[in-house]
Amino acid sequence: MTARVIDGKAFAEKVRGQVAEGVAALKAEHGITPGLAVVLVGEDPASQVYVRNKGRQTLEAGMQSFEHKLDVTTSEEDLLALVEQLNADPAVHGILVQLPLPDHIDSDKVINSIDPAKDVDGFHISNVGLLGTGQKSMVPCTPLGCLMMLREELGSLSGKDAVVIGRSNIVGKPMAQLLLGDSCTVTIAHSRTKDLAGTVRRADIVVAAVGRPNMVPGDWIKPGATVIDVGINRVDAPEKGEGKTRLVGDVDYASAAEVAGAITPVPGGVGPMTIACLLANTLTACCRANNLPEPQGLTA
Ligand code: NDP
Repeated sequence: MTARVIDGKAFAEKVRGQVAEGVAALKAEHGITPGLAVVLVGEDPASQVYVRNKGRQTLEAGMQSFEHKLDVTTSEEDLLALVEQLNADPAVHGILVQLPLPDHIDSDKVINSIDPAKDVDGFHISNVGLLGTGQKSMVPCTPLGCLMMLREELGSLSGKDAVVIGRSNIVGKPMAQLLLGDSCTVTIAHSRTKDLAGTVRRADIVVAAVGRPNMVPGDWIKPGATVIDVGINRVDAPEKGEGKTRLVGDVDYASAAEVAGAITPVPGGVGPMTIACLLANTLTACCRANNLPEPQGLTA
């Protein structure tokens, strides 16, 4: 069997198109423009690229983009004051504080100071609790993107055996909650899991969010399973020339694609969906703030 490739780039484009349509309708019918504020502290190169991409795609979707780039020496107090200001700003419907923050700032304190209704990353403790109890919440972007791809690929997820490898607060745990919400039977695996191979072999759905290059080989995959590879790992690529690198996932793509029914590539799978879902969450937050119907198909 050769797996169908789940094209995250194309799917993200479709989601961005839906968001842009929703934004255009909000403007035309209600005179409202959704706004996303992104706060970056310091000059981490990867974070700078993310923030730039987020800003560009926010504008392309027709939203307002507010970028706040703060010096690495910014105090926690000043950052909290900025969040407070953004919480109170009616033009801002979504707030994202780019992680990681410098060591002298308590990330949890900052994240939990964001108005939960504007917490488009879905990391605020209130949103975590709402998701965990099956209530309407803001859902973390990467797991939301994975859920959208799974629904698109499989239709109903009800009754499927799913394994999520990784139990982080930003990917693994919320992913498991979303799959449970769609009535999967969910196993969460982690570094202490005893029989990971056997656990993965039983799964109709495998979501790998570990951060270890190619750790899931094809012979762990149940024939026909749907594989979502969240991992982004940079490895040496001598075939591209000396000192060159390339990105690979947590799943050994070549061998897994021989067995799986469908699989996301890295790059071009989950990655592009994350920002698309950030835009979707901002539109959702704006609709909720204005007591308007939420966009269809863009939330959990
Ligand atoms: P974390 O490092 O926070 O979590 C990794 C998880 O993997 C932990 O729960 C850890 O278990 C588990 N783990 C580590 N080693 C093993 C092992 N040998 N067997 C089973 N489980 C193991 O990572 P994140 O969740 O933040 O990210 C995971 C990956 O996803 C990374 O590659 C990251 O770059 C990528 N990512 C991609 C995004 C995208 O947009 N596509 C967005 C976010 C992340 P334990 O808890 O026991 O230590």
